[in-house]
Amino acid sequence: MTTRAIRNIYCVGRNYREHAAELGNAVPEAPMLFMKPSHAAAAMDGSAITLPAGHGAIHYEAEVVLHVGRDYREGLTVDELVDRFALGLDMTLREVQDTLKKKGQPWLAAKGFRGSAPLGPFRPFPGAAAIRDTSFALKRNGEEVQRGTTGMMIFDLQTIVDYCAMHYGLGEGDLIFTGTPAGVGAVADGDRFELLWDGEEAGSCRFALV
Ligand code: MG
Repeated sequence: MTTRAIRNIYCVGRNYREHAAELGNAVPEAPMLFMKPSHAAAAMDGSAITLPAGHGAIHYEAEVVLHVGRDYREGLTVDELVDRFALGLDMTLREVQDTLKKKGQPWLAAKGFRGSAPLGPFRPFPGAAAIRDTSFALKRNGEEVQRGTTGMMIFDLQTIVDYCAMHYGLGEGDLIFTGTPAGVGAVADGDRFELLWDGEEAGSCRFALV
């Protein structure tokens, strides 16, 4: 898919226990959602993605990303609703986010900048149960930094789509970033990143901090 066809980009925060802990955050009692503009999307096709320099550390967060293939109706299962999925990175200006949190202000500046939603190629979604134990991983400059499975999530995929649909609406062309496992860290100019699904490459890019 081209990034032009993307509508809303929802993201779930703190959906893996060890990631919430590594940032000193409490585990939420309900899915914690925020959004990125569709303009944040960037294809992880091996080329360079430009990120904003001069605003403090930019963290990578490897996540499973759902593509919603039809408009939501009550009672639809995640398997009926989601037609494709990809791996992606929820890029975060961490120091900006810390400041916004302290002030109680919205996260847009920390999470919604251009290039903040790199996406690997989408593939058919075989169902929530089928992918539950399949590992996804992220390599930075050839070294693994993150690894997880959707089975490790605090809120499972069905809970996330139901919550999203009920409170904000869900329709064809929407994406959901479903949260990141532990191991997030900062990007340096020129770093190469590779996402892996079940050990196979599922998107790569180089970051240019400009
Ligand atoms: Mg995230």
